[in-house]
Amino acid sequence: MGELIDLVILGSTGSIGIQALEIVEENPDRFRVVGLASGSKNIQLLAEQARKFSVPVVGTTGRRDELISLLGNTHVIDGPLAASEIASITCGVVLNGITGSVGLGPTLAALAVGNKVALANKESLVAGGDLVMAYGSERIIPVDSEHSALYQCFLSGKSSEVNKVILTASGGPFRERKDFSDITVADALNHPTWAMGPVVTVNSATLMNKGLEIIEAHYLFNLPYSKISAVIHPQSVVHSMVEFRDGSTIAQASPPNMKGPIAYAISGANRIPKATLPVDWSKAHSWDFSPIDSAMFPAIELARRCGELGGGLPAILNAANEVAVDAFLAGKISFMQIIEIVEASVQKLGGNSPVTIRELSDVSAIENDSRIIANQLVQEHK
Ligand code: MG
Repeated sequence: MGELIDLVILGSTGSIGIQALEIVEENPDRFRVVGLASGSKNIQLLAEQARKFSVPVVGTTGRRDELISLLGNTHVIDGPLAASEIASITCGVVLNGITGSVGLGPTLAALAVGNKVALANKESLVAGGDLVMAYGSERIIPVDSEHSALYQCFLSGKSSEVNKVILTASGGPFRERKDFSDITVADALNHPTWAMGPVVTVNSATLMNKGLEIIEAHYLFNLPYSKISAVIHPQSVVHSMVEFRDGSTIAQASPPNMKGPIAYAISGANRIPKATLPVDWSKAHSWDFSPIDSAMFPAIELARRCGELGGGLPAILNAANEVAVDAFLAGKISFMQIIEIVEASVQKLGGNSPVTIRELSDVSAIENDSRIIANQLVQEHK
């Protein structure tokens, strides 16, 4: 039995945060929650979590008075920097389960004070990969299932022996669909294998999620884009693979359940008993793999191009995508217009993007420009 790990959980009321707290509840001898942060949308749940796990410090983006009246003595921090403040509490592991590039500041804040980060917020690496990796990769354990798989597969060889990595993609709900013109929000939110938050689910339907994950893998594992590929695997059991130079491919497999990668990351790359159910070999089943149709799903190649050009382009791509996905979820644009708007935003802004990102404010400025352009395009498309 290891020692008790002090955990800070950012985005505690979201899908990742809720599952992390279930793992904590099942393993009270392994984890103690020392800080929670979430947006102010679900203040009731945040208060409930803080009470249940006797959390001493809680952060939220607003509704401070309400939270204090629910919590009494607990130390409450509010405002846009609350998550970053909570992330810089010295602790065992900070789980960043925030959705969107607003998670970048808290990731940097956690790393700056020497904390380990269980990183579920892929946008930290997409929008600010150079800034995050300036701290090195040693203290970052990915939570994204594909990157958790790669992290585990990398342990079977030396990085100099790696030919390439292969990210698996479920293909989302529209893998076999021939016509995207009448897709509804409900269709896009109906993911065949994974239960996730709405933004990631829509990103999985456009396959932008896989595009962002290629950029994430580039930074996290210091790999050139030519060594990162993706393949459709509808069952979502093989979470990703590493091909070594001797022709061996190492894969990590488990039925789709985010508790596996969350538990692995928050325990500091240790294996918690029964974190998830293993593959059931007593039943017949098959794993399929097929190439991605990039004509139907242009998001992956768009993301790859932005990644290869580097600088501010991945941040532009991601911010425009966040705007477009919100607009789609709000019924303002069609499914197909999501990637059209992202591509047009990248084209409009790409030439002006600075070559290097030096600090967080560089990222914020680029993202701000991208959001303005993307919002204009949403208005025009309505
Ligand atoms: Mg993933």
